[in-house]
Amino acid sequence: MPSEQKKESPTDTVSHFFDVAAKQLDLSEEICQTLIKPYREITVEVPLRRNNGQLDLYTGYRVQHNGSRGPYKGGMRFHPTADIEDVRALAALMTWKTALVNIPFGGAKGGVTCNALELERNELERLTRIFTSKISLILGPQRDIPAPDMGTDAQVMAWMMDEYGKRHGHTPEIVTGKPIELGGSIGRNEATGHGTSVIITEAISDFNLSCDKVVIQGFGNVGSHAALYLEKMGAKIIAISDYYGAIHNPNGLPIQELFQYAAERRPLTDYDDADQISNQEILELECDLLIPAAIGGVITGENANRIQASAIFEAANSPTTISGEQVLANRGIPVFPDILVNAGGVIVSYFEWVQNIQQFRWDANRVEKEMKEILVKAYKNVSEIHKSKGISLRTAAFMVGVSRVAKSTELRGYLT
Ligand code: NAD
Repeated sequence: MPSEQKKESPTDTVSHFFDVAAKQLDLSEEICQTLIKPYREITVEVPLRRNNGQLDLYTGYRVQHNGSRGPYKGGMRFHPTADIEDVRALAALMTWKTALVNIPFGGAKGGVTCNALELERNELERLTRIFTSKISLILGPQRDIPAPDMGTDAQVMAWMMDEYGKRHGHTPEIVTGKPIELGGSIGRNEATGHGTSVIITEAISDFNLSCDKVVIQGFGNVGSHAALYLEKMGAKIIAISDYYGAIHNPNGLPIQELFQYAAERRPLTDYDDADQISNQEILELECDLLIPAAIGGVITGENANRIQASAIFEAANSPTTISGEQVLANRGIPVFPDILVNAGGVIVSYFEWVQNIQQFRWDANRVEKEMKEILVKAYKNVSEIHKSKGISLRTAAFMVGVSRVAKSTELRGYLT
Protein backbone atom coordinates (compact mmCIF):
# COMPACT_ATOMS: atom_id res chain seq x y z
CA MET A 1 0.00 0.00 0.00
CA PRO A 2 1.46 3.44 -0.89
CA SER A 3 2.10 5.63 2.16
CA GLU A 4 0.62 9.15 2.45
CA GLN A 5 4.21 10.54 2.31
CA LYS A 6 4.72 9.10 -1.20
CA LYS A 7 1.59 10.91 -2.43
CA GLU A 8 -1.13 8.40 -3.31
CA SER A 9 -2.33 8.87 -6.90
CA PRO A 10 -6.03 8.61 -7.83
CA THR A 11 -5.20 5.41 -9.75
CA ASP A 12 -3.49 3.93 -6.66
CA THR A 13 -6.71 4.51 -4.72
CA VAL A 14 -9.11 2.95 -7.22
CA SER A 15 -6.73 0.07 -7.99
CA HIS A 16 -6.37 -0.70 -4.29
CA PHE A 17 -10.15 -0.89 -3.80
CA PHE A 18 -10.34 -3.09 -6.90
CA ASP A 19 -7.60 -5.41 -5.53
CA VAL A 20 -9.39 -5.85 -2.20
CA ALA A 21 -12.63 -6.83 -3.98
CA ALA A 22 -10.82 -9.08 -6.48
CA LYS A 23 -9.21 -10.95 -3.59
CA GLN A 24 -12.61 -11.48 -1.94
CA LEU A 25 -13.92 -12.77 -5.27
CA ASP A 26 -10.86 -14.97 -5.68
CA LEU A 27 -10.25 -13.70 -9.23
CA SER A 28 -7.18 -15.00 -11.07
CA GLU A 29 -4.15 -12.76 -11.64
CA GLU A 30 -4.84 -13.01 -15.38
CA ILE A 31 -8.32 -11.57 -15.22
CA CYS A 32 -7.25 -8.91 -12.69
CA GLN A 33 -4.58 -7.67 -15.12
CA THR A 34 -7.15 -7.55 -17.93
CA LEU A 35 -9.71 -5.68 -15.84
CA ILE A 36 -7.42 -3.09 -14.28
CA LYS A 37 -5.87 -1.67 -17.47
CA PRO A 38 -7.84 0.82 -19.61
CA TYR A 39 -8.82 -0.23 -23.13
CA ARG A 40 -7.82 3.07 -24.73
CA GLU A 41 -6.46 6.48 -23.71
CA ILE A 42 -6.35 9.54 -25.95
CA THR A 43 -4.53 12.80 -25.20
CA VAL A 44 -5.13 15.87 -27.37
CA GLU A 45 -3.85 19.40 -27.51
CA VAL A 46 -6.59 22.02 -27.11
CA PRO A 47 -5.43 25.48 -28.24
CA LEU A 48 -7.78 28.28 -27.19
CA ARG A 49 -7.65 31.89 -28.39
CA ARG A 50 -8.73 33.83 -25.29
CA ASN A 51 -10.88 36.96 -25.52
CA ASN A 52 -7.80 39.06 -24.72
CA GLY A 53 -6.05 37.75 -27.86
CA GLN A 54 -3.70 35.39 -25.99
CA LEU A 55 -3.35 31.77 -27.18
CA ASP A 56 -3.59 29.28 -24.29
CA LEU A 57 -2.64 25.65 -24.81
CA TYR A 58 -4.65 23.14 -22.80
CA THR A 59 -4.49 19.34 -22.73
CA GLY A 60 -7.58 17.15 -23.01
CA TYR A 61 -8.11 13.44 -22.36
CA ARG A 62 -10.60 10.65 -22.90
CA VAL A 63 -9.97 7.29 -21.26
CA GLN A 64 -12.14 4.30 -22.16
CA HIS A 65 -11.65 1.79 -19.39
CA ASN A 66 -13.83 -1.27 -20.04
CA GLY A 67 -16.60 -1.76 -22.62
CA SER A 68 -17.48 -5.40 -22.07
CA ARG A 69 -20.97 -4.56 -20.73
CA GLY A 70 -21.88 -1.84 -23.28
CA PRO A 71 -20.81 1.50 -24.76
CA TYR A 72 -18.29 3.51 -22.73
CA LYS A 73 -19.99 6.03 -20.46
CA GLY A 74 -18.62 8.78 -18.25
CA GLY A 75 -18.39 12.47 -17.54
CA MET A 76 -16.23 15.26 -18.93
CA ARG A 77 -14.34 17.24 -16.28
CA PHE A 78 -12.99 20.75 -16.93
CA HIS A 79 -10.89 21.36 -13.83
CA PRO A 80 -7.26 22.16 -12.90
CA THR A 81 -6.88 18.67 -11.35
CA ALA A 82 -8.19 16.83 -14.45
CA ASP A 83 -4.93 15.26 -15.62
CA ILE A 84 -4.40 11.80 -17.13
CA GLU A 85 -3.98 10.18 -13.70
CA ASP A 86 -7.25 11.61 -12.45
CA VAL A 87 -9.18 10.79 -15.62
CA ARG A 88 -7.78 7.23 -15.75
CA ALA A 89 -8.89 6.53 -12.18
CA LEU A 90 -12.32 8.07 -12.74
CA ALA A 91 -12.81 5.99 -15.91
CA ALA A 92 -12.22 2.77 -13.93
CA LEU A 93 -14.67 3.93 -11.24
CA MET A 94 -17.30 4.38 -13.96
CA THR A 95 -16.82 0.75 -15.04
CA TRP A 96 -17.50 -0.51 -11.51
CA LYS A 97 -20.38 1.96 -11.01
CA THR A 98 -22.36 1.09 -14.16
CA ALA A 99 -21.88 -2.60 -13.33
CA LEU A 100 -22.93 -2.16 -9.68
CA VAL A 101 -26.26 -0.58 -10.71
CA ASN A 102 -26.48 -3.04 -13.60
CA ILE A 103 -27.05 -0.66 -16.51
CA PRO A 104 -25.68 -1.68 -19.93
CA PHE A 105 -22.64 0.58 -20.13
CA GLY A 106 -18.89 0.37 -19.70
CA GLY A 107 -16.75 3.01 -18.04
CA ALA A 108 -14.98 6.09 -19.40
CA LYS A 109 -14.00 9.57 -18.31
CA GLY A 110 -12.61 12.65 -20.01
CA GLY A 111 -11.54 16.15 -19.28
CA VAL A 112 -9.47 19.19 -19.98
CA THR A 113 -6.90 20.49 -17.49
CA CYS A 114 -8.24 24.04 -17.09
CA ASN A 115 -10.11 26.23 -14.65
CA ALA A 116 -13.59 26.56 -16.17
CA LEU A 117 -14.44 29.20 -13.53
CA GLU A 118 -11.86 31.54 -15.08
CA LEU A 119 -13.19 31.24 -18.64
CA GLU A 120 -15.80 33.50 -20.21
CA ARG A 121 -18.85 31.64 -21.55
CA ASN A 122 -17.79 32.11 -25.20
CA GLU A 123 -14.28 30.88 -24.35
CA LEU A 124 -15.79 27.80 -22.71
CA GLU A 125 -17.82 27.17 -25.88
CA ARG A 126 -14.73 27.40 -28.13
CA LEU A 127 -12.76 25.13 -25.79
CA THR A 128 -15.60 22.57 -25.77
CA ARG A 129 -15.93 22.57 -29.55
CA ILE A 130 -12.17 22.19 -30.18
CA PHE A 131 -11.88 19.40 -27.60
CA THR A 132 -14.96 17.57 -28.97
CA SER A 133 -13.77 17.74 -32.57
CA LYS A 134 -10.39 16.30 -31.55
CA ILE A 135 -11.82 13.30 -29.70
CA SER A 136 -14.94 12.75 -31.82
CA LEU A 137 -13.36 9.85 -33.71
CA ILE A 138 -13.62 7.66 -30.61
CA LEU A 139 -17.09 8.86 -29.53
CA GLY A 140 -20.42 7.49 -30.76
CA PRO A 141 -23.89 6.67 -29.42
CA GLN A 142 -23.02 2.94 -29.45
CA ARG A 143 -19.34 3.57 -28.65
CA ASP A 144 -18.76 6.28 -26.04
CA ILE A 145 -21.30 8.72 -24.57
CA PRO A 146 -20.06 11.72 -22.50
CA ALA A 147 -21.97 13.49 -19.70
CA PRO A 148 -21.37 16.48 -17.41
CA ASP A 149 -18.94 16.40 -14.51
CA MET A 150 -17.02 19.08 -12.59
CA GLY A 151 -16.77 22.31 -14.56
CA THR A 152 -19.19 21.18 -17.28
CA ASP A 153 -22.99 21.41 -17.47
CA ALA A 154 -26.01 20.97 -19.75
CA GLN A 155 -24.88 23.85 -22.01
CA VAL A 156 -21.45 22.24 -22.48
CA MET A 157 -23.23 18.99 -23.46
CA ALA A 158 -25.34 20.96 -26.00
CA TRP A 159 -22.15 22.31 -27.63
CA MET A 160 -20.64 18.80 -27.66
CA MET A 161 -23.76 17.36 -29.29
CA ASP A 162 -23.79 20.13 -31.89
CA GLU A 163 -20.08 19.71 -32.70
CA TYR A 164 -20.46 15.93 -33.05
CA GLY A 165 -23.59 16.47 -35.18
CA LYS A 166 -21.64 18.56 -37.71
CA ARG A 167 -19.84 15.37 -38.78
CA HIS A 168 -22.47 12.72 -38.10
CA GLY A 169 -25.86 14.44 -38.44
CA HIS A 170 -28.33 15.04 -35.63
CA THR A 171 -27.33 12.64 -32.83
CA PRO A 172 -28.87 13.64 -29.47
CA GLU A 173 -27.93 10.27 -27.95
CA ILE A 174 -24.21 11.12 -28.25
CA VAL A 175 -24.27 12.94 -24.89
CA THR A 176 -26.46 12.83 -21.79
CA GLY A 177 -27.15 15.62 -19.35
CA LYS A 178 -28.26 17.89 -22.24
CA PRO A 179 -30.81 20.70 -21.86
CA ILE A 180 -34.36 19.26 -21.89
CA GLU A 181 -35.16 21.37 -24.98
CA LEU A 182 -32.51 19.40 -26.92
CA GLY A 183 -33.61 15.95 -25.79
CA GLY A 184 -32.27 15.92 -22.24
CA SER A 185 -34.15 13.80 -19.73
CA ILE A 186 -36.41 15.31 -17.15
CA GLY A 187 -34.67 14.77 -13.81
CA ARG A 188 -31.10 14.35 -15.18
CA ASN A 189 -29.80 17.71 -13.96
CA GLU A 190 -30.72 16.93 -10.35
CA ALA A 191 -30.28 13.13 -10.60
CA THR A 192 -26.91 12.74 -8.83
CA GLY A 193 -27.94 14.86 -5.83
CA HIS A 194 -31.40 13.26 -5.83
CA GLY A 195 -29.87 9.78 -5.94
CA THR A 196 -27.60 10.73 -3.04
CA SER A 197 -30.71 11.56 -0.98
CA VAL A 198 -32.29 8.21 -1.95
CA ILE A 199 -29.23 6.29 -0.69
CA ILE A 200 -29.13 8.40 2.49
CA THR A 201 -32.82 7.65 3.14
CA GLU A 202 -32.14 3.90 2.90
CA ALA A 203 -29.04 4.14 5.11
CA ILE A 204 -30.76 6.22 7.79
CA SER A 205 -33.19 3.42 8.60
CA ASP A 206 -30.71 0.61 7.93
CA PHE A 207 -27.91 2.09 10.09
CA ASN A 208 -30.06 4.07 12.53
CA LEU A 209 -28.55 7.41 11.51
CA SER A 210 -29.84 10.93 12.03
CA CYS A 211 -29.82 13.88 9.61
CA ASP A 212 -30.11 16.70 12.13
CA LYS A 213 -26.68 18.06 11.25
CA VAL A 214 -25.51 17.63 7.66
CA VAL A 215 -22.29 19.01 6.17
CA ILE A 216 -21.73 19.16 2.40
CA GLN A 217 -18.40 19.98 0.75
CA GLY A 218 -19.05 21.32 -2.77
CA PHE A 219 -22.20 23.21 -3.77
CA GLY A 220 -22.18 22.65 -7.53
CA ASN A 221 -24.58 20.40 -9.42
CA VAL A 222 -24.31 17.44 -7.04
CA GLY A 223 -23.89 19.18 -3.68
CA SER A 224 -26.62 21.79 -4.22
CA HIS A 225 -29.24 19.30 -5.43
CA ALA A 226 -28.37 16.85 -2.64
CA ALA A 227 -28.85 19.74 -0.18
CA LEU A 228 -32.25 20.66 -1.67
CA TYR A 229 -33.54 17.07 -1.52
CA LEU A 230 -32.18 16.51 1.99
CA GLU A 231 -33.76 19.74 3.20
CA LYS A 232 -37.08 18.58 1.75
CA MET A 233 -36.67 15.37 3.80
CA GLY A 234 -36.34 17.51 6.96
CA ALA A 235 -32.53 17.46 7.27
CA LYS A 236 -30.70 20.51 8.61
CA ILE A 237 -27.71 21.53 6.47
CA ILE A 238 -25.25 23.34 8.75
CA ALA A 239 -22.32 23.90 6.36
CA ILE A 240 -21.64 24.01 2.61
CA SER A 241 -18.65 25.05 0.51
CA ASP A 242 -17.42 25.93 -2.96
CA TYR A 243 -14.01 26.36 -4.60
CA TYR A 244 -13.34 29.56 -2.61
CA GLY A 245 -14.24 28.39 0.92
CA ALA A 246 -17.02 27.25 3.24
CA ILE A 247 -19.85 28.75 5.27
CA HIS A 248 -21.22 27.40 8.56
CA ASN A 249 -24.29 28.12 10.66
CA PRO A 250 -25.05 25.61 13.46
CA ASN A 251 -28.74 26.64 13.29
CA GLY A 252 -28.99 25.60 9.64
CA LEU A 253 -28.45 27.36 6.30
CA PRO A 254 -31.25 28.60 3.96
CA ILE A 255 -30.57 26.16 1.09
CA GLN A 256 -33.17 27.54 -1.39
CA GLU A 257 -31.72 31.03 -1.05
CA LEU A 258 -28.13 29.77 -1.34
CA PHE A 259 -29.06 27.70 -4.41
CA GLN A 260 -30.13 30.93 -6.16
CA TYR A 261 -27.01 32.64 -4.87
CA ALA A 262 -24.70 29.97 -6.34
CA ALA A 263 -26.72 29.88 -9.61
CA GLU A 264 -25.69 33.51 -10.10
CA ARG A 265 -22.06 32.28 -9.89
CA ARG A 266 -21.47 34.24 -6.68
CA PRO A 267 -18.81 32.78 -4.31
CA LEU A 268 -20.32 31.46 -1.07
CA THR A 269 -17.56 33.31 0.78
CA ASP A 270 -19.38 36.57 -0.08
CA TYR A 271 -22.49 35.37 1.78
CA ASP A 272 -22.87 37.41 5.01
CA ASP A 273 -25.26 35.45 7.20
CA ALA A 274 -22.90 32.60 8.23
CA ASP A 275 -19.41 31.99 9.63
CA GLN A 276 -16.62 31.67 7.07
CA ILE A 277 -14.44 28.58 7.42
CA SER A 278 -12.01 26.79 5.12
CA ASN A 279 -12.56 23.79 2.83
CA GLN A 280 -10.42 21.76 5.26
CA GLU A 281 -12.31 22.88 8.38
CA ILE A 282 -15.70 22.00 6.90
CA LEU A 283 -14.68 18.32 6.77
CA GLU A 284 -13.90 18.31 10.49
CA LEU A 285 -17.15 19.82 11.80
CA GLU A 286 -19.14 17.75 14.26
CA CYS A 287 -22.13 16.37 12.31
CA ASP A 288 -24.38 13.38 11.66
CA LEU A 289 -23.69 13.08 7.94
CA LEU A 290 -20.66 14.34 6.03
CA ILE A 291 -21.14 14.53 2.25
CA PRO A 292 -18.04 15.29 0.19
CA ALA A 293 -19.43 16.54 -3.17
CA ALA A 294 -16.45 18.29 -4.80
CA ILE A 295 -12.99 16.95 -5.66
CA GLY A 296 -11.22 13.66 -4.93
CA GLY A 297 -8.67 12.79 -2.23
CA VAL A 298 -9.97 15.15 0.48
CA ILE A 299 -10.33 12.58 3.31
CA THR A 300 -6.84 11.27 4.01
CA GLY A 301 -4.79 9.47 6.64
CA GLU A 302 -3.84 12.94 7.88
CA ASN A 303 -7.33 14.38 8.58
CA ALA A 304 -9.50 11.23 9.00
CA ASN A 305 -8.74 11.13 12.74
CA ARG A 306 -10.26 14.58 13.17
CA ILE A 307 -13.50 13.80 11.32
CA GLN A 308 -16.48 14.02 13.68
CA ALA A 309 -19.26 12.62 11.47
CA SER A 310 -21.37 9.55 12.28
CA ALA A 311 -21.32 8.49 8.61
CA ILE A 312 -19.83 9.62 5.30
CA PHE A 313 -21.67 9.59 1.98
CA GLU A 314 -19.36 9.97 -1.03
CA ALA A 315 -21.32 12.10 -3.49
CA ALA A 316 -17.97 13.11 -5.06
CA ASN A 317 -15.91 10.56 -6.92
CA SER A 318 -13.01 9.11 -4.94
CA PRO A 319 -12.96 11.60 -2.03
CA THR A 320 -11.36 9.10 0.39
CA THR A 321 -7.75 7.87 0.11
CA ILE A 322 -6.63 4.37 1.08
CA SER A 323 -5.21 5.46 4.42
CA GLY A 324 -8.21 7.76 5.04
CA GLU A 325 -10.48 4.73 4.58
CA GLN A 326 -8.38 2.65 7.01
CA VAL A 327 -8.49 5.29 9.74
CA LEU A 328 -12.27 5.64 9.36
CA ALA A 329 -12.72 1.85 9.43
CA ASN A 330 -10.68 1.63 12.65
CA ARG A 331 -12.87 4.34 14.16
CA GLY A 332 -16.07 2.54 13.07
CA ILE A 333 -17.32 5.38 10.84
CA PRO A 334 -19.22 3.87 7.88
CA VAL A 335 -18.29 5.19 4.43
CA PHE A 336 -21.00 4.77 1.80
CA PRO A 337 -18.97 4.56 -1.42
CA ASP A 338 -19.08 6.85 -4.45
CA ILE A 339 -20.05 4.13 -6.93
CA LEU A 340 -23.29 3.65 -4.99
CA VAL A 341 -24.02 7.12 -3.59
CA ASN A 342 -23.57 9.14 -6.78
CA ALA A 343 -24.89 6.54 -9.27
CA GLY A 344 -28.23 8.37 -9.70
CA GLY A 345 -26.56 10.55 -12.34
CA VAL A 346 -25.48 7.75 -14.63
CA ILE A 347 -28.77 5.90 -14.11
CA VAL A 348 -30.80 8.87 -15.39
CA SER A 349 -28.17 9.34 -18.14
CA TYR A 350 -29.04 5.79 -19.18
CA PHE A 351 -32.74 6.74 -19.24
CA GLU A 352 -31.87 9.80 -21.36
CA TRP A 353 -29.95 7.66 -23.87
CA VAL A 354 -32.86 5.18 -24.05
CA GLN A 355 -35.38 8.01 -24.56
CA ASN A 356 -33.23 9.55 -27.34
CA ILE A 357 -32.87 6.21 -29.14
CA GLN A 358 -36.61 5.54 -28.89
CA GLN A 359 -37.46 9.18 -29.65
CA PHE A 360 -39.86 9.06 -26.76
CA ARG A 361 -40.07 11.08 -23.56
CA TRP A 362 -40.64 9.83 -20.03
CA ASP A 363 -42.39 12.00 -17.43
CA ALA A 364 -40.85 13.00 -14.09
CA ASN A 365 -42.72 10.30 -12.16
CA ARG A 366 -41.37 7.52 -14.35
CA VAL A 367 -37.79 8.81 -14.17
CA GLU A 368 -37.94 9.13 -10.39
CA LYS A 369 -39.64 5.77 -9.83
CA GLU A 370 -37.24 3.82 -12.06
CA MET A 371 -34.13 5.57 -10.68
CA LYS A 372 -35.23 4.81 -7.10
CA GLU A 373 -35.91 1.16 -7.92
CA ILE A 374 -32.43 0.66 -9.34
CA LEU A 375 -30.69 2.55 -6.53
CA VAL A 376 -32.59 0.84 -3.71
CA LYS A 377 -31.91 -2.58 -5.24
CA ALA A 378 -28.17 -1.80 -5.46
CA TYR A 379 -28.18 -0.40 -1.91
CA LYS A 380 -29.84 -3.54 -0.49
CA ASN A 381 -27.43 -5.77 -2.37
CA VAL A 382 -24.40 -3.88 -1.02
CA SER A 383 -25.74 -3.65 2.54
CA GLU A 384 -26.55 -7.37 2.61
CA ILE A 385 -23.03 -8.37 1.43
CA HIS A 386 -21.44 -5.87 3.87
CA LYS A 387 -23.33 -7.41 6.79
CA SER A 388 -23.13 -11.06 5.84
CA LYS A 389 -19.40 -11.02 5.01
CA GLY A 390 -18.33 -8.43 7.60
CA ILE A 391 -16.52 -6.38 4.94
CA SER A 392 -16.62 -2.65 4.21
CA LEU A 393 -19.48 -1.14 2.22
CA ARG A 394 -16.94 -0.16 -0.43
CA THR A 395 -15.57 -3.67 -0.81
CA ALA A 396 -19.12 -5.02 -1.02
CA ALA A 397 -20.01 -2.50 -3.75
CA PHE A 398 -16.82 -3.20 -5.71
CA MET A 399 -17.44 -6.96 -5.43
CA VAL A 400 -20.81 -6.62 -7.14
CA GLY A 401 -19.44 -4.36 -9.91
CA VAL A 402 -16.18 -6.23 -10.49
CA SER A 403 -17.83 -9.67 -10.59
CA ARG A 404 -20.29 -8.53 -13.30
CA VAL A 405 -17.50 -7.05 -15.44
CA ALA A 406 -15.31 -10.14 -14.93
CA LYS A 407 -18.17 -12.34 -16.11
CA SER A 408 -18.91 -10.32 -19.27
CA THR A 409 -15.19 -10.02 -20.06
CA GLU A 410 -14.89 -13.80 -19.85
CA LEU A 411 -18.07 -14.42 -21.89
CA ARG A 412 -16.87 -12.13 -24.68
CA GLY A 413 -13.72 -14.23 -24.97
CA TYR A 414 -11.31 -11.41 -24.09
CA LEU A 415 -9.14 -13.92 -22.23
CA THR A 416 -8.74 -16.46 -25.02
P1 NAD B 1 -19.64 21.16 -10.28
O1 NAD B 1 -18.55 21.74 -11.07
O2 NAD B 1 -21.05 21.45 -10.62
O3 NAD B 1 -19.43 21.55 -8.73
C1 NAD B 1 -18.23 21.30 -8.06
C2 NAD B 1 -18.26 22.00 -6.71
O4 NAD B 1 -17.00 21.78 -6.06
C3 NAD B 1 -18.41 23.53 -6.84
O5 NAD B 1 -19.11 24.03 -5.69
C4 NAD B 1 -16.96 24.00 -6.85
O6 NAD B 1 -16.85 25.37 -6.45
C5 NAD B 1 -16.35 23.03 -5.82
N1 NAD B 1 -14.91 22.85 -5.98
C6 NAD B 1 -14.20 22.78 -7.13
N2 NAD B 1 -12.90 22.63 -6.87
C7 NAD B 1 -12.78 22.60 -5.52
C8 NAD B 1 -11.68 22.47 -4.64
N3 NAD B 1 -10.43 22.37 -5.10
N4 NAD B 1 -11.95 22.44 -3.30
C9 NAD B 1 -13.20 22.55 -2.84
N5 NAD B 1 -14.28 22.70 -3.62
C10 NAD B 1 -14.07 22.72 -4.95
O7 NAD B 1 -19.36 19.57 -10.26
P2 NAD B 1 -20.39 18.41 -9.90
O8 NAD B 1 -20.95 17.93 -11.17
O9 NAD B 1 -21.28 18.85 -8.79
O10 NAD B 1 -19.38 17.27 -9.40
C11 NAD B 1 -18.98 17.19 -8.03
C12 NAD B 1 -18.44 15.81 -7.74
O11 NAD B 1 -19.47 14.85 -8.01
C13 NAD B 1 -17.26 15.38 -8.60
O12 NAD B 1 -16.42 14.56 -7.83
C14 NAD B 1 -17.91 14.57 -9.71
O13 NAD B 1 -17.02 13.64 -10.30
C15 NAD B 1 -19.00 13.86 -8.92
N6 NAD B 1 -20.11 13.38 -9.76
C16 NAD B 1 -20.82 14.23 -10.55
C17 NAD B 1 -21.89 13.73 -11.28
C18 NAD B 1 -22.78 14.64 -12.11
O14 NAD B 1 -23.81 14.16 -12.58
N7 NAD B 1 -22.49 15.92 -12.27
C19 NAD B 1 -22.18 12.36 -11.27
C20 NAD B 1 -21.43 11.52 -10.45
C21 NAD B 1 -20.40 12.05 -9.70
